[in-house]
Amino acid sequence: MDPVTDSLDEVHRRLAGLRDGEVADYIPELAGADPDDFGIALVSMAGRTYRTGRADTPFTLQSVSKPFVYALALSDHGVDEVLRRVGVEPSGDAFNAISLEPGTGRPANPMVNAGAIATTALVRADGADDRFRRILARLSAFAGRELDVDEAVYASEAATGDRNRALAYLMRSAGSLRADPEETVDTYFRQCAVRVTTADLAVMAATLADGGRNPVTGVRVVSEPDAVRTLAVMATCGMYDGAGRWMLDVGLPAKSGVSGGLIAAGPARFGVAVHSPPLDASGNSVRGVAALRAMAERFGLHIMHSP
Ligand code: GLN
Repeated sequence: MDPVTDSLDEVHRRLAGLRDGEVADYIPELAGADPDDFGIALVSMAGRTYRTGRADTPFTLQSVSKPFVYALALSDHGVDEVLRRVGVEPSGDAFNAISLEPGTGRPANPMVNAGAIATTALVRADGADDRFRRILARLSAFAGRELDVDEAVYASEAATGDRNRALAYLMRSAGSLRADPEETVDTYFRQCAVRVTTADLAVMAATLADGGRNPVTGVRVVSEPDAVRTLAVMATCGMYDGAGRWMLDVGLPAKSGVSGGLIAAGPARFGVAVHSPPLDASGNSVRGVAALRAMAERFGLHIMHSP
């Protein structure tokens, strides 16, 4: 076996017995996830995939969709226009917090739900169907294969997602969301329900790490400046109220989601992904965080580290 797979195997073996955390159940359909699902994948800039554990088990993107849709909004409007509508300051709050700027109602950043919903509304389209079609096409380009929606998870979140609906209505009343709240939230729920595997997520992260070019397919998915901006926002806001500690310990731009997915990117080096459903209090995968900590320490991955 090659040394990279060896190391991933070793980390996987060490953490498979970790029993901390809770599987998210506020979206009822997610509650049935197997807490023992645990996959790790890494994609190099040469486009080679290394994997260990259950790296081909499907699960939904949830908040891991946020940076990729932000990159799409940046390519549609440019950074200045997007900044007028969604901030880039870490909120220090939970992912579902009402983190809106007093007065303007502008959401703190695109990685918390309010900012992600506002970002989804920014995607240029001719109606809601076209907007989701463009989002799905872009997510698929990041992954290098055609992705689809887990309809059961989508329906489950659509039936219970009143907090996100409330956020959209609040933004609408403050003037920071100009689109229809119901339609926007529906598109956001669909984007969260896009189905991926750990191996897909590693390719998606590697595409950001490679300056917006998918290293497996060779396709340019976003411009280099927009890939860099997306990574910057992931670095400051991707782990919610755990973002500061994450930067201290792991030091990589990252994004987590409530189905237990976690991506991290080593700029110009690799994309890595972990999937394990049990979450910590911030909504980040317990094994995911532990795995990235172990890898960062072992390989000196911190972006502030000089080799
Ligand atoms: N769809 C989820 C929600 O909006 C995403 C949250 C997450 O993954 N942290 O609540």
